[in-house]
Amino acid sequence: MNHPRAWVDIHLNRLNHNVQQINALISKKTKIMAVVKADAYGHGLEQIVLSLHKVGVTSYAVATLEEAIEVRGLLPTADILILGLTPIHNVYLLAHHRLIQTVFSESYVKSLAAAATSAGILIEIEIKVDTGMNRIGFAYDQINAIKIVFSYNSLRVNGIYSHLSVADSFKPEDVAFTQVQINRYELCLKELDGFSYGRTHLQNSAGIINQSHLQFDYVRPGIMLFGIPSGEVKKVDLKPVLELKASISMIKTVRAEEYIGYGRIVKFTKPKKIATVSIGYADGYPRSLSGKGVPVLVNGQYANLVGRVCMDQLMIDVTNIDGVSEEDQVILIGTSQTKRIMMSTIAEQTHTITNDLACQFSLRTVRLYTTSNKKDVETVV
Ligand SMILES: *Cc1c(COP(=O)(O)O)cnc(C)c1O
Repeated sequence: MNHPRAWVDIHLNRLNHNVQQINALISKKTKIMAVVKADAYGHGLEQIVLSLHKVGVTSYAVATLEEAIEVRGLLPTADILILGLTPIHNVYLLAHHRLIQTVFSESYVKSLAAAATSAGILIEIEIKVDTGMNRIGFAYDQINAIKIVFSYNSLRVNGIYSHLSVADSFKPEDVAFTQVQINRYELCLKELDGFSYGRTHLQNSAGIINQSHLQFDYVRPGIMLFGIPSGEVKKVDLKPVLELKASISMIKTVRAEEYIGYGRIVKFTKPKKIATVSIGYADGYPRSLSGKGVPVLVNGQYANLVGRVCMDQLMIDVTNIDGVSEEDQVILIGTSQTKRIMMSTIAEQTHTITNDLACQFSLRTVRLYTTSNKKDVETVV
């Protein structure tokens, strides 16, 4: 039992591979703004950011001020955009850490400008334009409201961007709507001709893959950096960066007609060899997989989850696994020899997307980072 209790293997070489694939996909003039919110989608902010920086990524986007400050601590010169709300009382921290704040409404930009003025500081901002998602942003056709943003002396506009809501769908009406959003964004930029609005960007991962012909200044890949794009996307050569693994704590024979686990939801008519695995829903493995006979990999062979996923443990049926021992590791998401369990399959079975699932592996799972195909360079974080 030389492995950790439960862990994720993070393959930084695959992250680099995915960056190369994105660069191959986008136009020569377009750059990558890496979206590393939510602890880099559960992959660990520090190692991911440092690794991205090494392969030349100098632009980052995050969801919160706290995340932005963390990235700044790692990269003194990168540009860092906060995509969402920063409370106005934190305006000083925006300036202190040289962060770029998104402004998305008339009231927000007004408050931000006033706070910056009274603090005697200049804040870098980017303007979020709503082209049809109706989440945050200035309506694409409220040009006068957008023009006013340029008039505040305490704010400096660094960019203007929008976000696609159905870029991950092949349905004809969705493809048409994405085109509507692109047109609205371009129309808005045209109306702002003469204003120095700075850099432009529109595409998330699905938008990058399915609309790779667009040529804005930046693209904003998140989930595709980690090799697990969600929704309907064209085929691209991306590699999953994360594998989820855990140790077996105990193997035993459970007698016929005995129940296994909470709720007594399973029993077998024959004796079964059952392994208990040291991972549970508090480690990010969804409890809603309970009772679905989900596969895991042991010794290069498929075994099935039995009973309910507990908070810190779960049970699998290893009756048919050759040579299984308490020394074996269990792969819950990942590859073993020719077999694999994909994050997208697990996500589908719990009615969610890979983005959501990946973020869950942040809580207490140990991360082992590898930088080569061989597993010889490992650092425990
Ligand atoms: C999260 C986010 C992204 C990245 O989305 P992915 O689908 O993970 O690539 C890009 N832009 C905005 C505004 C986001 O909130």
